[in-house]
Amino acid sequence: MTALMNTYNRVDLAFERGEGAYLITAEGRRYLDFTSGIAVTALGHCHPHLVKTLQEQGAKLWHTSNLFRVPGQEKLAQRLADASFADAVFFGNSGAEALECGFKLIRKYHDDFGDPNRYKVIAFEGAFHGRTLATLAAAGNEKYLKGYAPNVEGFEQVPFGNLNEVRARITPETAAILIEPVQGEGGMRAADAQFLKDLRTVCDEFGLLLMFDEVQCGMGRTGKLFAHEWAGVTPDLMSTAKAIGGGFPLGACLATSKVAAAFGHGAHGSTFGGNPLAMAIGNAVLDVMLAPGFLDNVAKLGRHLDKRLADLVKRFPKVFVEARGLGLIRGLKCAGSNADIVDQARAKGLLLVSAADNVVRLLPPLIITQAELDQGLDLLAEIAAQAKAA
Ligand SMILES: *Cc1c(COP(=O)(O)O)cnc(C)c1O
Repeated sequence: MTALMNTYNRVDLAFERGEGAYLITAEGRRYLDFTSGIAVTALGHCHPHLVKTLQEQGAKLWHTSNLFRVPGQEKLAQRLADASFADAVFFGNSGAEALECGFKLIRKYHDDFGDPNRYKVIAFEGAFHGRTLATLAAAGNEKYLKGYAPNVEGFEQVPFGNLNEVRARITPETAAILIEPVQGEGGMRAADAQFLKDLRTVCDEFGLLLMFDEVQCGMGRTGKLFAHEWAGVTPDLMSTAKAIGGGFPLGACLATSKVAAAFGHGAHGSTFGGNPLAMAIGNAVLDVMLAPGFLDNVAKLGRHLDKRLADLVKRFPKVFVEARGLGLIRGLKCAGSNADIVDQARAKGLLLVSAADNVVRLLPPLIITQAELDQGLDLLAEIAAQAKAA
């Protein structure tokens, strides 16, 4: 028993330290980490550039609040803007906060244009957007909403990938469409490039804002800085978080100048958001991700993973029924229980995380070597061979 609130059904395992793609217990047992703290530790554990930055900034200045200019914020915002569709950035501390910022921007944008009745957001079934009341309402997952009525108003869901349903739901009250280019928690489904393009067209046709939630699939995970770049489509605003701080709590809402103009002084805020310590680390993460060749290597590893996962499904169709995802955000839909595969992998020293729709997720750090990747996949093949024999 601990004094913790009982919100997590945790594995009875704790780690003392981490090295790259490995987590190590106090007893010295090493685990190959394909969870990356749920897509957070993209540069692996204790990346030397991040450790050095943390130590240096930690000895200089942690927090001043947004009463004052924070040069690291201005720098990171500019770098994110230069590397993306966006012109302006708001920093918070988590994914859910980045989405909440986006929801407020969406409402304020339409309000500024004299259309305060436009507030409804169309989102998608199987989505995950966070655990605050509004982000729960956006995803509409009954499992997570149960007991928290009344739900925040203004969100509805349509089947992922169904353009006709999207069109059918649009009314004069519709303000925006919200989608994860690759659904994470919902089962690692990547949206078709054409579907994302069609959403852009629909948004332009009806004067809606297009918001991408790249909290999990963004920040290099697919082999581009943001997953939507593969589709050649840009949103009006976007949430990102998880990997942006490499393990330090940080989230951001990015927007075009047209949308960001809705926020004036006092329109939104965060006490901790974008503090000097978080910004130093966020900038250090970008130093690594934007270095020549880094994202190309992630894309290359992604292509390798693509082949190996397809091979697993081909060899063990009674265990793995489908491979999903993009780059290094991947899922295997299991025929049996996904939780059993996660448990068996852990017993062999490989850490995985489950997703909805009976999927096991593979979220290796982006710094992983192909040999380490293969090691994890060989273990999965071993498990599948045993499951088949059983
Ligand atoms: C994890 C996640 C969130 C929520 O992020 P938190 O930091 O837990 O608030 C939102 N959207 C997506 C797509 C996520 O994967």
